[in-house]
Amino acid sequence: MKKRVLVTGGSGFVGSHLCERLLNDGNEVVCMDNFFTGSKQNIIHLLGNPYFELIRHDVTTPFSAEVDEIYNLACPASPVYYQFDAIQTVKTSVMGAIHALGLAKRVKAKVLQASTSEVYGDPHVHPQKEDYWGNVNPVGIRSCYDEGKRCAETLFMDYHRMNDVRIKIIRIFNTYGPRMHPNDGRVVSNFIVQALNNQDITVYGKGEQTRSFQYVDDLVEGMVRFMNTDDSIIGPINIGNPGEYKIIELAEKIIELTNSKSKIIFKPLPQDDPTQRCPDIAYAKKLLDWEPKIQLEEGLLKTIRYFKA
Ligand code: NAD
Ligand code: UDP
Repeated sequence: MKKRVLVTGGSGFVGSHLCERLLNDGNEVVCMDNFFTGSKQNIIHLLGNPYFELIRHDVTTPFSAEVDEIYNLACPASPVYYQFDAIQTVKTSVMGAIHALGLAKRVKAKVLQASTSEVYGDPHVHPQKEDYWGNVNPVGIRSCYDEGKRCAETLFMDYHRMNDVRIKIIRIFNTYGPRMHPNDGRVVSNFIVQALNNQDITVYGKGEQTRSFQYVDDLVEGMVRFMNTDDSIIGPINIGNPGEYKIIELAEKIIELTNSKSKIIFKPLPQDDPTQRCPDIAYAKKLLDWEPKIQLEEGLLKTIRYFKA
């Protein structure tokens, strides 16, 4: 059945892939974005589609739209950008959630929150399961993002408990792929851009910290499947690829795949950089019959091809 779907943050990296997928599934899509980290370029190929609408709007102020579903993605995801204006990041997460939930309540839409593995902070439990409450510094430089996202989860649960709003919370682990901004500052885009230009690869710390990298198509598949579950299913649910790599291993792999002459150099580790990160995806596998299909090398090659072009 054709649905009308609002995607906040729809012109960002993940949002643009999601808009495309929702249109391909035969839905009408309203994309809302203030273009802080997103760009028109990401969705320019969708602008001619009569079932696609673009609204320039900052989610920290209220909005309305007659829609059946809302995917709430608006929020910068790269540490460089979310720390650039930390107060705006908190406002975007918290006020953005309140406005998305208020709209969902008014029009009786289902609303999905793009939460994050950052709610687990620097985790003491490994791999991270949904029932782990996390280890988050409330006063550090990453707190604007981590605590903003944690508060958004709280708001989602309270609107559900108090107002019966139909909610879905997914916790997304590090995701990469085409349409990441080349200057985004996240590790995969940084390393690929550096490798393609034969510049030094900047590994922070000793590169012993781990991350688990998910290709964007796997994320979008998980998101859509989760949105389509029964109303009694609200999450939180982890969506990520459990393949875990040290950052130094990622650097070496990208040098190899790009045939680069780049050398690895070491830079100071940013404050509160989590030491390890890996999703337990047993719940998603069972509930959604979902698991990531694209493993690191294949996903990196697709992303390298994008950055080359
Ligand atoms: P992104 O920065 O590319 O996209 C975010 C989008 O939100 C951009 O288009 C930006 O312009 C828009 N935006 C920011 N503030 C806004 C505001 N106040 N009003 C309206 N639009 C605003 O990041 P992404 O990687 O596409 O992430 C999308 C969502 O997924 C974010 O909520 C992020 O927290 C979450 N997430 C992403 C990852 C990942 O690894 N990519 C991991 C965990 C969670
Ligand atoms: N990182 C790095 N070099 C870079 C960018 C990031 O070594 O040029 C490291 C960073 O310190 C972190 C990991 O890569 O340990 C992932 O960083 P990213 O900003 O992509 O995401 P997050 O820290 O939010 O998981």
